[in-house]
Amino acid sequence: MEPTLALTQALIRRPSVTPEDGGCLTLIAERLEALGFHCERMDEGGVSNLWAVWGTEGPTLTFAGHTDVVPPGPEDAWTHPPFEGHFDGEWLWGRGAADMKGSLAAMVCAAERLCQHPRAGRLAFLLTSDEEGPAQFGTRYVADMLEARSELPQWVVVGEPSSAEKLGDVIRVGRRGSLGGHLEVRGVQGHVAYPEKARNPIHEALAPLAAVVAQRWDDGYGPFPPTTFQISNVNAGTGATNVIPGTLTAEVNFRFNPGQTPEGLQARVEACLKEANCDYTLTWTLSGPPFFTDGGPLIEATEQALVQIVGYGPERSTGGGTSDGRFLAPRGMEVVELGPVNATIHKIDERVLAADLPRLRDVYEALGERLLPRLSS
Ligand SMILES: [Zn+2]
Repeated sequence: MEPTLALTQALIRRPSVTPEDGGCLTLIAERLEALGFHCERMDEGGVSNLWAVWGTEGPTLTFAGHTDVVPPGPEDAWTHPPFEGHFDGEWLWGRGAADMKGSLAAMVCAAERLCQHPRAGRLAFLLTSDEEGPAQFGTRYVADMLEARSELPQWVVVGEPSSAEKLGDVIRVGRRGSLGGHLEVRGVQGHVAYPEKARNPIHEALAPLAAVVAQRWDDGYGPFPPTTFQISNVNAGTGATNVIPGTLTAEVNFRFNPGQTPEGLQARVEACLKEANCDYTLTWTLSGPPFFTDGGPLIEATEQALVQIVGYGPERSTGGGTSDGRFLAPRGMEVVELGPVNATIHKIDERVLAADLPRLRDVYEALGERLLPRLSS
């Protein structure tokens, strides 16, 4: 079996639903140690993390990613069992095949080639078993440790499945930020027949929420789409039809581009609530600031590697949800996300085109060749 395919299969066969690692990092560390990597486990809070470095000086190119997978859902709905790693000659099936054990295997196999030659610079791996979950003790924790040691890398390739239709047609160079809010509007509970003796928080929340929803936040920022605001939950009412409730709660979320700040968006929402004289509290949680790598050696090397291996240059995208890039890029690293086609990720029957795996390895290898040139011996 082709080596990248074989390693992907071996990883799929180690079930690792968040925050489990299932032995994936041990397998990867064994392969890297054989190449001369110094491997350091940075497990914390029930999460498995690996920081592995090859080479001693110069700029550091890091392959980053996660061994954890989302739950398979009902296993009998799968065409092939989700942790079997079934290969049908064309597709490799299984949870994590595309997100992102295929990328991890391609990165390890690329390292096995890159480390055959002494190089100007270091090659590193930053892997975690908690990307799909709370992500408290995963990449964020390792980046904190590395920052404290002044060991942050310059360039990070995250293996998230960025491709849309075919391998390498899209790379991600940034992500929108995510800002959540929990709103509570207080009224006075009472009988619906005596509204003058009550204050209805549903009525009081309607106008300001409608005003917020009607806002146009901006017109986008570079390759970023306009900032969006969504109300995801509204709850009020006692269940009885003759009672005016005392409170209304709502969950809201912004996906915002780097042209905005959380403080600015919060102020605009609160202005609407104050204008309506609502009695409210609103607590905000920033789950990730936006990030944007606007050019630089890493993006150049990635685009050149794709042209060399797959024959076309990628679209630079900032779409999709959040990723662990949010913990890295704001610290000054150049970050690009490049991985397989994402059509089946998180779905029943997740799978990856087997032929894409060695090609992805070749792309990772080619960008490594460009960023970490060989030393003439
Ligand atoms: Zn992923």
